[in-house]
Amino acid sequence: MKVCKFGGSSLANAAQVNKVIDIVLSDPSRRIVVVSAPGKRHSGDTKVTDLLIELANTAMKGENTDRQFGAVVERYAEIAQQLRLGDEIVRRIEMDLMDRIAKVNELAADEFMDLLKAAGEDNSAKLVAVAFQARGKKCRYAGPKETGMILTGAHGDAQLDPASYDTLSRAFSNFEGIVVYPGFFGYTSEGKVATFPRGGSDITGSILAAAVCADVYENWTDVDSVLPCDPRVVPEVAAGEGIPTMTYREMRELAYAGFGVFNDDAVIPAVKARIPINIRNTNHPSEPGTMIQQSRRVVPGTVVGIAAMDNCCNLVVEKYLMNREIGFGRKLLTSLEEEGVSYEHMPSGVDTQCIIVKEQYLPKGREARVIATIRREVKPDYVTVERGLTMIMVVGEGMCFTPGMLAKACLALSSEGINISMVNQGSSEVSFMIAIRSSERDKALRALYKTFFR
Ligand code: ASP
Repeated sequence: MKVCKFGGSSLANAAQVNKVIDIVLSDPSRRIVVVSAPGKRHSGDTKVTDLLIELANTAMKGENTDRQFGAVVERYAEIAQQLRLGDEIVRRIEMDLMDRIAKVNELAADEFMDLLKAAGEDNSAKLVAVAFQARGKKCRYAGPKETGMILTGAHGDAQLDPASYDTLSRAFSNFEGIVVYPGFFGYTSEGKVATFPRGGSDITGSILAAAVCADVYENWTDVDSVLPCDPRVVPEVAAGEGIPTMTYREMRELAYAGFGVFNDDAVIPAVKARIPINIRNTNHPSEPGTMIQQSRRVVPGTVVGIAAMDNCCNLVVEKYLMNREIGFGRKLLTSLEEEGVSYEHMPSGVDTQCIIVKEQYLPKGREARVIATIRREVKPDYVTVERGLTMIMVVGEGMCFTPGMLAKACLALSSEGINISMVNQGSSEVSFMIAIRSSERDKALRALYKTFFR
């Protein structure tokens, strides 16, 4: 069985919904269809989820919501009309939205916001199920409530309660025909709607693939395959070859460092269950896409992708004889823990410890406080924060046991006159990180692409 998740661009209008139906019907093993809310129809358009956020904010301010309400309903009505699905489904969507808006004074702000955001995918799934039925296919809508997808954690940033896997698996074993399921949300144990982070329909698809032990999790989007580098920065990437296969580890490293094609958290459920993930293009279904799996044949000395993570800063702590002070590292990290600062990498020198942190965890306003805590706990000779850094990640299983990969990267950067602030490579050898000034990022990506891919 295959679980197929279709993103917002695959559901933006009636023509796209028809493509989705054709793709699903072309392979009888495509049984579970996870959908996003309708996305942008053209570059100036607004995603339904963003319209819903505006609707929720307007309702919470106690202002008239007619315009925002009309804009959301119009998106579904347009699809229903062009697919000749009748008025009934549009009326159901209208009623559903009205019921949600009526809860504005009953719920806390974050609960109300999630209730409205979830309407995007929920109604998308109901509409797509009706569209399958209109083509004479056995198909039903099933949602998180009836199948038992329980979430924990903060609203807008929820996570699956792992106990849900058994419930979901049992629920799906009773279904026949095609099931259309809304992405992006579930319910708390108190019965409140909660959403994953933005882009979270990928997570829903991955969870369902793991719950039903799917043969493959197909993630349908609008690119033929994952590209090895950002084509907005390195235009020749678009004309070159996409990545045919990559391992879970490679995808994780690249997603972590900012590859936008696949939600970072979404890899985890499928990876744990060892389900291959296939990124496909709804607009070119004959393309095989990118297959992400446990292992692949690697050519020694090759790189699979290069990513850049911007907005990083370096917390530099210096103390003479730090290497002999037992407990120094623990005290330093405890200081960060106390201040709620999460860190990314920790390259070190003899008497210097660098800690790379995303700027969001160390905004300028908090810098003095964090430094004061570190001064108190580890009594350093010197502490400072260096801002405006980008971490470049060079990733590939093919780098393992191959001498000279880092040397090549350094040479590429030095020949462009780019100074390296820091380097970090784990013993897995599947990636290395090079920190540079953000102002040199594009030049660095172009130089590295040329070295490893041309
Ligand atoms: N519709 C949601 C968003 O725009 C979730 C998703 O599309 O995956 O973030």
